[in-house]
Formats: sequence, C-alpha cells, structure tokens
Amino acid sequence: MNGKLIVLSGPSGTGKSTVIASVMAQYPNLQFSVSATTRAMRPGETDGKDYFFVTRETFLQMLENGELLEHAEYVNNFYGTPEKAVNDALASGIDVLLDIEPQGALQVKARRDDAIMLFLAPPSIPILESRLRGRGDTSPEAVEKRLQQARWELSQAEKYDYIVVNDRVETATQEILAIITAEKCKTQDRIHRIKEEP
Ligand code: 5GP
Repeated sequence: MNGKLIVLSGPSGTGKSTVIASVMAQYPNLQFSVSATTRAMRPGETDGKDYFFVTRETFLQMLENGELLEHAEYVNNFYGTPEKAVNDALASGIDVLLDIEPQGALQVKARRDDAIMLFLAPPSIPILESRLRGRGDTSPEAVEKRLQQARWELSQAEKYDYIVVNDRVETATQEILAIITAEKCKTQDRIHRIKEEP
C-alpha cells in the first residue's frame, strides 16, 4: 500500500513548524519533505534538513529538469518540492508531509487528487500579526510583506479539505493525527482487507 501524501499550509506565524515537529514526534511513519529554496539560511537551520539551500541558478535548473513536484515564488524567493524523494517514500509505504504555501499546494492537488489538503490557521488575525511583528529575524518591510502574504493565504483556506486551528499545539497535533488516521480508514484503502482472496 502506498503512503499518503499530506499537504500542510498555513501563514507564516501560525506556529506550523512547532505543530509539524509535534506531529512527527508522535507519528513515526511520516517523512518530512525537504524543499529546495533560494532564501538565505536562518540561524538554527541546517542545509539538507530544513531545506536544501540553493542558488537561483540551481533552482531554475531543477525546475527545467522537471525535478520539482511544485514550486512557487514567496516574498522574492523560490521554493519547490523535489519530487523523487516524495515518490520514493510513498512507493515504500511511508507517508509524506509537505509544508508548502497555497500556490504550490494547489499545484500538488491538481496533479495528485489523493493528496490530503490541510490548512493550519492561527487562533486569530491579531495574534498572527503580533507574532509576525515580534520576530527578530526579519526587517519591517519583510514583516509587512509577510502580513500581506498571510492575509492572502487565509483567503485560500476554503480550497483545502480540512482546517485545523492552532489554539494549542497539542490539540492541533491530535486533530492532524485524527485526520490522517481517518483518511487511512477510507473504504477504497481498506476494502481489500475484507475481500476474500481469489
Ligand atoms: P519560510 O521561508 O518561512 O521557511 O517559508 C515560507 C513559506 O514557504 C511557508 O509558507 C512554507 O510553507 C512555504 N514553503 C516551504 N517550502 C516550500 C515549497 O517547497 N514549495 C512551496 N510552494 N512553498 C514552500
């Protein structure tokens, strides 16, 4: 049985990384898809673990070679999902989690109808704004751009299959785990278990 492809989007400042770390800690059969990006590495990030940090030239070459399942430009940088690692994991029965923004998420849905589309929402817009302003690693202009971006991303939430609100990390984690579990119990994936062998 192939693994499930799980797409998670949510505006910057929603607490996505914390929720993802919590989900991964409680669900070992899940592989995080490491994206390629042209943005600069932030303190505490590791190349090859958080992202593959690449030049614009390398990114465009990957795109031209057809290596990316999806890609998008976000706040003046390119981001994309290397497809081979995703396919390899799914083929060996491992579920894969993509942490990507909505433009890319919708490209994935268009190519893979069975992708599970999750939107992680902040507890409220004011909380999101204060979190974005409180971040020390970005300039005021970058914060303003991220805020605009966040508003647009929230407007895309209705295109997803599920919305999880990150009021509390543990609750959001349990909701995501419950969604994955329910998806795995769908009739089309389980029917073979109750059919007689020919
Ligand atoms: P950050 O620069 O804060 O790590 O990520 C910015 C945004 O890019 C986040 O919303 C994140 O989900 C999204 N992102 C990360 N990797 C990818 C990717 O491979 N493709 C797309 N479309 N978005 C990505």
